[in-house]
This record gives sequence, structure tokens and C-alpha cells, in this order.
Amino acid sequence: MTPYRSFSAVQADLKSGSITCRQLVEQYLTRIEDHKSLNVFTEIYADEARQQADAVDQKLTAGTAGKLAGMVIGIKDVLSYSGHGVRAGSRILENFTAQFTATAVQRLLNEDVIIIGRQNCDEFAMGSSNENSAFGPVRNAVDPDRVPGGSSGGSAVAVQAGLCLASIGSDTGGSVRQPAAFCGVVGLKPTYGRISRWGLIAYASSFDCIGPIANTADDAALLLEIMAGADEFDSTVSSNSVDTYTTAHLPDRPLRIAYLRDGVESEGVDQSIREATLNRIQALQKAGHTVEPIDLTLLKYLLPTYYILTTAEASSNLSRFDGVRYGYRSMPTNTSTSDLLSLYKKSRTEGFGAEVRRRILLGTFALSASYYDAYYTKAQQVRRLIRQETERLFEKYDFLLSPTTPTPAFRLGEKTGRNSGEDPLQMYLADIFTVQANVVGYPAISIPNGTDANGLPIGLQLMAPPFAEGNLVALAKSLQGE
Ligand code: GLN
Repeated sequence: MTPYRSFSAVQADLKSGSITCRQLVEQYLTRIEDHKSLNVFTEIYADEARQQADAVDQKLTAGTAGKLAGMVIGIKDVLSYSGHGVRAGSRILENFTAQFTATAVQRLLNEDVIIIGRQNCDEFAMGSSNENSAFGPVRNAVDPDRVPGGSSGGSAVAVQAGLCLASIGSDTGGSVRQPAAFCGVVGLKPTYGRISRWGLIAYASSFDCIGPIANTADDAALLLEIMAGADEFDSTVSSNSVDTYTTAHLPDRPLRIAYLRDGVESEGVDQSIREATLNRIQALQKAGHTVEPIDLTLLKYLLPTYYILTTAEASSNLSRFDGVRYGYRSMPTNTSTSDLLSLYKKSRTEGFGAEVRRRILLGTFALSASYYDAYYTKAQQVRRLIRQETERLFEKYDFLLSPTTPTPAFRLGEKTGRNSGEDPLQMYLADIFTVQANVVGYPAISIPNGTDANGLPIGLQLMAPPFAEGNLVALAKSLQGE
């Protein structure tokens, strides 16, 4: 079976009767089995997906099927789905079952989506390589010795390898776009508050966004359209009306596009990525658009701001995992777990991986009484300055263009442990171009932009002002020739 690369192709075949949803699900299940070594799924809902497929086939015959009839997706292991396990890639949620369904997931189900399984990710969505998962690393399908990116690594490889048509991930600092770039697929992070976070396991609540990963910008747009919009369970969600992103058009005039000078000039950016980005810029200029270099004066403060604020929020959000209320508990038979405090300590030490522990400690430090103003308050102030600079930029421009990542997919182990001199900053730098959109809450998309000499995918990122997802999708489609 050659996997489908667009929902419209699936719909055409369903309509002509050359395939049924049930057959489609069987084909995906076979492909998942054949690609087990990539370690993409942490749980496969085989029988359930078959039943759902049969039900959707009946609805199609009866003419009562929803908009996503025939769409087979996977969901990242941070999204709650009632009655199903959810682990956030962590040992601490061992044996935990979701009590309710995330709003975004429920809206997809209401339109007859078929969920084929739960996808591997970095623990609590903290990471850029999917190497921080209690389920082990995911491998890039282009080269299994390389990482898929993270934290939604399983979700990106699932689409890349044709193990489902699309995936739902989450993006706090780049976790949808960076793995999409490493895997040669499309990843869309919407405006903060566009999609309800209800049912998404929290990492850093003022940054977290749910976002789709797909083969085409059109499929990502359709998924966004269905997931977006007001929700009584999340007070931070926007009540702005939801556009039909799939049919959005670009303004009828030449576009004003800024590009990040560092993205094409910095030595830190791989030569192949600089060239691919430059080629895009030249093509856009040739097509009559204004495309100009800009410097982000606060670029060097992006990652520090991001890491102070996200670790602070994470230390608070993750305090609920105490070994009592959820999942993993250090065995009480152990004599050192005889009092409550040591139960907390041991459960959390054993239940969380090294990166999550590091971030809880950093965040707790940043929020501690004597350092609060020096770190947390300061970072909030810098966040405001970054937002103001970004706002000023978008008074002049419709889009900000850059590479999605400074390098293509790196090798497993290359940026962890001793290989990086135990320096987590090497890994954090993979998100240098993606975090801005999260710090300011703007939407951004990563689309494939060719490959390097080794065949490794390169991503191009486009960012737009709040709620301009329609423009993002429309430009992405025209660049992709969709
Ligand atoms: N890689 C970034 C981090 O480790 C972003 C993660 C994300 O977007 N969830 O925090």
C-alpha cells in the first residue's frame, strides 16, 4: 500500500468505493506493525479503530457521516481521551487512565475521526529529540539513526512514515513545528488560545498550544478549523469566530514578508538550510512580493526568557504528580518511604526523568522568594519587550519567515549526555527559531523546504499576527503548490 498523502485523496477513494474505512484502518495497522522499530506508538487502539471504521462506513452509506469521515489520526501522549491511558511519556503516570476527553479530541470525534493510537513524545513535552521518553526514543523514518525532533516526535514520524494520515501534537516552544521540519511534514501552531487546552496535560500553561501535524497545509487547516473555538472549560480560549481556514485566500496585493537575517547569515545555521531558505526568499521576490531582512534585537533573550518562564510554570503544574493522586508511587514496602515527605520525594525522584527533574528544580529556584524578582519578574518584563518588538514588526509586515531549525535532524545521542559535554543548552538551541511564536502567542507553521545532501528534510517557518492562521495556511499552500 502506498500511504495516502492527503485527505482529499482518501475522500475520493471512499466516494468511488475503491476503499472502505475498515480497509484503510487495516492497512494502517499493518504499516504500524511493519514500522514498529521506529517506536512511534505507545499504545495502538486496533480493535476500537476497526469498530469505529465500521461505524463510519455505515454512516457514509447512510449519508450521515461527519466532516472527518475516513481521516485516521494519532494523538500525542499528552492528550486526554476518556477511558484510555495517558502517560505524557512518563513513568509517573504509570497505569493512569484519563477520566475525560480533551475538548480538541472530542471535536474531532464528533466529526467521525478515527483514532488509531497514542503517540510517543518527550516526557511532559520537554525536549527537542524525543529522547526524554519513558518509552524510549522515536526514530526518524528517513534515517533511523537520527532523531525525529521533539517533543511531538512520534506524531511527526507517524505522518512521515504513513502510519496514519495526520496527528495531533502540542507546541510549547516548537514541539509541533520542529519535529515536522525534521520529518518533512507540515506542523501548525495556532495562536495562543485558539484551541482549548482542556484535557491537554499542562507543561507551561501560558505557552502551551495544541496543533496538527499533516502531509499538507490543507489537512492541517481542516483539523484546526474543527478543533478551534470557544470552550467553557478553558477560560483562556478565545471567543473570536473561527475562520474556514481551508478556503482562506491571501490578500490581493503583493505580500510584505520580513525574514530573519540570522536565519540565512548566521554561521550557526547549517549551510544547506541557509541556501534552501534563501532560494525561497528569492522565489518570493521574483513573484513580486516585498521580502526584506530584519534583525530581532532581542533574539538572544528568547531562549533564556522561554526557559525561565516555562520551567517556573512547569514546577507549579507538575507539583500535582505527588505519588498519591496519580499514577506511580514508590513502593511503601520500602522502609525509606515510611513518612509522607519521603513518599513524595521518592515517588517524584523515581517517577520523573532527568530532564523533567532538572526543569522542576530550575523553575522552583526561579520562583523562590529570594530570586523571584531577579528571574521570574525579569523574564516577564523581557517577554513583554519581545511582544512589543514583534508587534512593531507586524505593523509593517504580513509574515515573518525563517528556517524552522538551524540544523537538520541530528543523530540519536548527539546532543545528550557526554556527547554534548552534559550541556543541555546544545539541545535547547534546536528551538532558537520556534520559541518566539510561543513567547508572544502568535501562530506559525512549518512546511517542508527540500532536503540536504543526505536527504534529510529541511523546514521553512512562517509566522503571522494573532488569528491570521488563514493567511498562514494560504501562503503555505501556495508555496507547497497545493
Ligand atoms: N523543545 C522545547 C522544550 O524542550 C519545546 C517543547 C515543546 O514545545 N513542548 O521545552
